[in-house]
Amino acid sequence: MVEVEQLKMIDKQVMQWLDRVRRTLPSMIEDMDTQTKANRFDLVTNVDKAIEQSFEQMLTMHFPNHQLYGEEAHHNTEKLREGFTWVIDPIDGTANLVKQQDDFCLILALFHNGQPVLSYIDDFSRQKRFQAIKGQGVYLNDVPLSPPSERPLKESLISFNNKVLNDETMHDLLEVSFGYRLIGACGLDSAKVFTGQFGAHIHTNAKPWDIGAQFLFAEMLGLKMTNFHQEPIDFIHGGPFIISNAGCYDETLKILLQKGGYQKL
Ligand code: NAP
Ligand code: CA
Ligand code: CA
Repeated sequence: MVEVEQLKMIDKQVMQWLDRVRRTLPSMIEDMDTQTKANRFDLVTNVDKAIEQSFEQMLTMHFPNHQLYGEEAHHNTEKLREGFTWVIDPIDGTANLVKQQDDFCLILALFHNGQPVLSYIDDFSRQKRFQAIKGQGVYLNDVPLSPPSERPLKESLISFNNKVLNDETMHDLLEVSFGYRLIGACGLDSAKVFTGQFGAHIHTNAKPWDIGAQFLFAEMLGLKMTNFHQEPIDFIHGGPFIISNAGCYDETLKILLQKGGYQKL
């Protein structure tokens, strides 16, 4: 068990690092250079790489015994459940960064012996930072964030990638829910569930760094976060993921599963 005082000390360093990233980001974006990875939609920029490297340097300086599990490097997963492990997606929504210079974020989480203890989602362009400290609270730009009130699916906006759900399932979800919205960055789509603006966000093949921060936010805000069989998700492996307001969780999952609703892409 980690003491809250220790978490607050780590949090202070991380908040300063996030402030530095925000200050340097505009010039990094000006010098942005984009490459493709597996296919033409799989983008990475020097901004993604530079942010992750900068975080690694901060860890080496202040917390040398902390492990790092990042999207861009370090995929040795053997000892990640031992001691302190950070999971980082330096830029979530890289396609949005490249195409719009908007609607991207950083996702960052600290686990201690496999349990989430600190979490951050920084929506850089809107200057909105979500922060969770286990045993202390959840904040949006330093203001406490309360759990959203429960809402049924018929009153909720829901979010999912429309390339991966079967047409019939998608149609059923659109029919029953209040409506559909997608930002295109798993961290920001999830954060809309934290605030109650969205009822649920579904990602049928989430990578660990897409959802690292969401574990603690879900726990502290009374949200559901599971795979599609209502089971916990392993933070090292990721996989099918739903984060949902408790009021629309059962119904959303029922529709998602009833016609074999999605392809694993
Ligand atoms: P996108 O705009 O590139 O990305 C939307 C979100 O999905 C971001 O959080 C992104 O994280 C993440 N993502 C990007 N590529 C992914 C991949 N291959 N697998 C899982 N997550 C991914 O998304 P898009 O242009 O609509 O799709 C790009 C590819 O990702 C397509 O092959 C799509 O089918 C797949 N994808 C699948 C799901 C799903 O629910 N299974 C959801 C989104 C995308 P980064 O920006 O950090 O990469
Ligand atoms: Ca991502
Ligand atoms: Ca990324």
